[in-house]
Amino acid sequence: MTTHKTDVIVLGAGIVGVSAALHLQQRGRAVVLVDRQQPGEGTSYGNAGLIENASVIPYMFPRDLRHLLRYALNRTADVHYRLIDAPSFVPWLVRYFLASSPEGTMRSAMAALPLIKRSLIEHEALIAQAGVPELLRYTGWIKLFRSEASLAKALAELETARGLGVDGTVLDPAAIAAREPLLRGAFTGAIHWPTPGFIPDPGGLVRAYADLFERRGGRVLLGDAATLEGARDGWRIAQPDGALVARDVVVALGPWSDQVFRPLGYRIPLGVKRGYHQHFKPRDNAVLRHPVLDADRGYLLAPMNRGIRLTTGAEFARRDAPPTPVQIARTVPVARELFPLGEAIEPQPWLGARPCLPDMLPVIGRAPRHPGLWFDFGHQHHGLTLGPATGRLLAELMTGETPFADPTPFAAERFS
Ligand SMILES: Cc1cc2nc3c(=O)[nH]c(=O)nc-3n(C[C@H](O)[C@H](O)[C@H](O)COP(=O)(O)OP(=O)(O)OC[C@H]3O[C@@H](n4cnc5c(N)ncnc54)[C@H](O)[C@@H]3O)c2cc1C
Repeated sequence: MTTHKTDVIVLGAGIVGVSAALHLQQRGRAVVLVDRQQPGEGTSYGNAGLIENASVIPYMFPRDLRHLLRYALNRTADVHYRLIDAPSFVPWLVRYFLASSPEGTMRSAMAALPLIKRSLIEHEALIAQAGVPELLRYTGWIKLFRSEASLAKALAELETARGLGVDGTVLDPAAIAAREPLLRGAFTGAIHWPTPGFIPDPGGLVRAYADLFERRGGRVLLGDAATLEGARDGWRIAQPDGALVARDVVVALGPWSDQVFRPLGYRIPLGVKRGYHQHFKPRDNAVLRHPVLDADRGYLLAPMNRGIRLTTGAEFARRDAPPTPVQIARTVPVARELFPLGEAIEPQPWLGARPCLPDMLPVIGRAPRHPGLWFDFGHQHHGLTLGPATGRLLAELMTGETPFADPTPFAAERFS
C-alpha cells in the first residue's frame, strides 16, 4: 500500500472544483482533483450554458399569492414537485421562503454582485489559457414574454438591474423577429441581455479546463469522496493502491457535498432544485441564434453543439429520487410551436440537481471546526457562471491573499 502526498485535494471535478484547482495551482499549490467520474459529467454537463453576468437578482421564493397558488396546484411547467418527497424538501422550502423577503433578496444580490461582475472575465482568462475560444459565444440571451403582466414585471426588474450596472434591450415583436426570425408566438415583448456569454458545450468546457490543469502538472484521479477521513497533519482519501494525503481538502461536490460535511457534524441546509434537459435536432437546418427563455411557459432553448437543448425549471424532490420528467413532457409541445424542433436526440431526458442554500448564496471558505477543510459548493442556478470567480475567491482565502470580494456572506457560520 502506497501513500501519495500532495498540498491540496479538491473533491469534485465539476466547474466549481476544476476552477478552484486551477486557481490554487496558479498560486503554486500541488493539487489533485478527485471525482468518481470524469471531469464535467455531473451537474456541470447539463446546464443551459449561460455565463449569467446579467442575472443580478437571485432566484428567490415567490411571495405573491397568485404564484403560490399556481405552484401549489403542481400543474405548471416552470416548477414541479414530487408530493411523496414533501417531507424531505418542505422544511428547506420554509427556510427558502424566509430568506426571500425583499430585504433578504437584496442582501443576497449585493453579496453575489462582485462575483457576478467578475464571472465572464474569469472565464475569458481560462478559455484563452485552455485554447478553446470556440466554446464561448457573445450572443447574450433573450427572455420572451407572452403576457402584459409578465412583461411589466420584467421591465421593473430591468430598472433594478440597471441600478446595479446591468443593461438589457427591450424588444417589441418586430425586434424579436429581426433577432430570431424563426420564432413563432404571440409575444408581448422581450428583453435581450447582451452581455452574458454562452457556452455551447458546458461539459466540454469543464473537460478543457481539466486538460489545462493536467498540462500544468495537476493530477485528476478517480476516487470516492465519502472515504475522506482526518489524518496526521491533514486529510486522507482512499485510492486503489493505498491513500492520498494532503494538508488541505476542498469540498466541491455540488449537490453531493453533504456526503462529506454531514458525517463531520455540519448542519448546512443544502437543498436541491432538480432540472432536466433533452436535445432536439432542428428541423430543415433551422438556426437558433441565441438561448431563448420562454418565460411564461417555463423552459429555455439553447443552441448547443449537440443540438437544441431544452432545459426545464425547478423540480422539488429528493436528490436521488427516480426521474419524473413531467416538465419535459409539458414543455416540448409548446417549444415545438415556438421553434421548428425535429426529433429528440436522446431517448430519455438528462436529470441534474442545482445545489442550493436557502439564501441562494454558495458556501465558500474554511470549515469552522476542522483545520484544513474548505468548502466551495451550493452555486444554485449559477454554478457555470460563478465557478471560476468563486475558485479565485477560495484560492485567495486559502493562500492568505487579499480576497477580491467580501467572503463574509458566504461563510458556513451563517447557518450555525
Ligand atoms: C437544468 C439546469 C440548467 C442550468 N443552467 C445554468 C446556466 O445556464 N448557467 C449557470 O451558471 N448555471 C446553470 N445551472 C447550474 C449549474 O449547472 C450548477 O450550479 C453547477 O453545475 C454546479 O457545479 P458543481 O461543480 O458545484 O457541481 P457538479 O458539476 O455536480 O460537480 C460535482 C462533482 O462531484 C462528483 N461527486 C459526487 N459524489 C462524489 C463522490 N462520492 N466521490 C467523488 N466524486 C463525487 C460528481 O461526479 C461531480 O462531478 C443549471 C443547472 C441545471 C440543472
